[in-house]
Amino acid sequence: MLVDNARLHIAIQKSGRLSEYSRALLKDAGLRMANGKNELTARVENFPADLMFVRDDDIPTFVSDGVCEFGIVGENVLQEFALGESEPRFEILAQLGFGRCTLKLAAPEATAYEGPASLQGARIATSYPRILQSFLQENGVSATVVKMTGAVELAPRLQIAGFICDLVSTGATLEANGLRAVETVFESEAVLIRTRKAVAEAKLEQGERLLRRIEGVLATKESKYIMLNASEEALAQITAILPGAEAPTILPLHGRPGHFAVHAVCQESVFWETLQKLKAAGASAILVVPIEKMLM
Ligand code: ATP
Ligand code: ZN
Repeated sequence: MLVDNARLHIAIQKSGRLSEYSRALLKDAGLRMANGKNELTARVENFPADLMFVRDDDIPTFVSDGVCEFGIVGENVLQEFALGESEPRFEILAQLGFGRCTLKLAAPEATAYEGPASLQGARIATSYPRILQSFLQENGVSATVVKMTGAVELAPRLQIAGFICDLVSTGATLEANGLRAVETVFESEAVLIRTRKAVAEAKLEQGERLLRRIEGVLATKESKYIMLNASEEALAQITAILPGAEAPTILPLHGRPGHFAVHAVCQESVFWETLQKLKAAGASAILVVPIEKMLM
């Protein structure tokens, strides 16, 4: 890995659910970088920092070891890592408001569930054995944890386990596999972390500068007002996609029975990707407008 004593190293996910948001955050903080997606590193042109594009699972290790001073990673991955350490070698600086998901216990539709006691003696498949184990312990339950690195939702069908403990955002994957969520184990979003290892004097100040910039972005992060039209059948899916929108306003469209206008304040960044998802879900005439002032 690149060693340059005067430059900060920031670890972000190379490609996946966090990468676009992580890049956007750093860009909003004024960092200008080349856009090559297949590179392992990118030099920031206007700030003494290099980005490291890595698998999300490696980010807690890199930051803890001090290979990278900063990192952006999901709390789920971070917590799973931290539970295997005797003491944390990183600190969480900020919650970033994206990459929200929930680690949930789920079981086939027909499985009876009346609280954690129903897990006694069960086999539970998961990619998060430590988080699951600590949940089981807190609830005084003993069960067999089966570690899987992917396709966890197939475990019940393959009779590897009776329950699964997996990340859920919309629940569509569970449903598609005939599973239903029965318990929330851990709520997660992306966080900014910093190493607890001693950082070279020259980099300390740059680190503080970077942190203040990111805090500034988070504080002023523009909420957006989204307006779109949709048919009644598409409403549920569309409102589930709207990022960070609570209780959207839904108004009937004059002269078009069965069609509605959806208005919502979105507290999270609205990316083109989100708009494309909305369109695919049946939304039309999508407008995103900035909000100048808001009084809740
Ligand atoms: P990598 O190749 O970096 O290991 P990955 O396949 O482990 O990628 P992604 O699926 O890109 O990871 O997810 C990265 C993170 O995004 C997750 O660890 C989690 O924090 C967050 N996330 C948000 N929503 C979801 C979801 N529905 N399912 C899985 N992860 C989600
Ligand atoms: Zn991963």
